[in-house]
Amino acid sequence: MKKYERKLDNIPIKLKSEENKRKFYLDLYNNNKEVKPRWNTLRESGIKVVREYLLDMTNRSCAYCGKRISDSTMDVEHFLPKCEFPYLAYCIDNLLPSCKVCNQNYKGDFIPIEIKSKKIIEGCVMNLQEYDYIYNKEQVLNELCSQTRIIEPTFDIISENLEFDPEFFLYTTKSNIGKETNKMFFDKSEFIELLEKMSNVVKYIVKGNGSNDEEIINALIELEGYEVYYRGFYEYWNKEKQNNRL
Ligand SMILES: [Zn+2]
Repeated sequence: MKKYERKLDNIPIKLKSEENKRKFYLDLYNNNKEVKPRWNTLRESGIKVVREYLLDMTNRSCAYCGKRISDSTMDVEHFLPKCEFPYLAYCIDNLLPSCKVCNQNYKGDFIPIEIKSKKIIEGCVMNLQEYDYIYNKEQVLNELCSQTRIIEPTFDIISENLEFDPEFFLYTTKSNIGKETNKMFFDKSEFIELLEKMSNVVKYIVKGNGSNDEEIINALIELEGYEVYYRGFYEYWNKEKQNNRL
């Protein structure tokens, strides 16, 4: 898992203007009483810009597993899910680009237990809605749900919570939120099998004594993503080679 920087001075106009957002929030639900999935329709202008902003933030990778994603394969993930927190559905600071497996199969509508049933809303609708808290990320993530949530990769320092072990293809957890995150995304047989295959590929590359190993690793990352893992395995196998264990 990797930390990404969220550039809040560079927000697309669609989600910067309070007036625009209020318009969205006043027209929040579809006929089935679900929050309108605005980020998945390109009929409204400006949506692609929001998707591109998110992709750009993570260098076109899933914010959780690191897999390469594109406009056509990404999901716009709500860190605090829109079913429970509808008045954060259009808050840019609550959106992450994700692959479909992480968003739909693993995370789903996960809600930290401490904030279940709390009404947390964006400031721009404070005159229109009842609320318990106006959204303030520091307060919500560090005070209201500091124990049972998962890591937010644009907010938390990864190394304080998780450490990747390239020898055994797993994460050592250092905090409660590290544990929750590991359980949700990484401690899965299919992910561990994928890591083992990545490690083998890198091992063959390092073993081959070629002069352009680093370029091959960079090309693999360009193609598939998973930067943290490819670089971790590359460092690991080079060390093994230096110690004559390869
Ligand atoms: Zn993913």
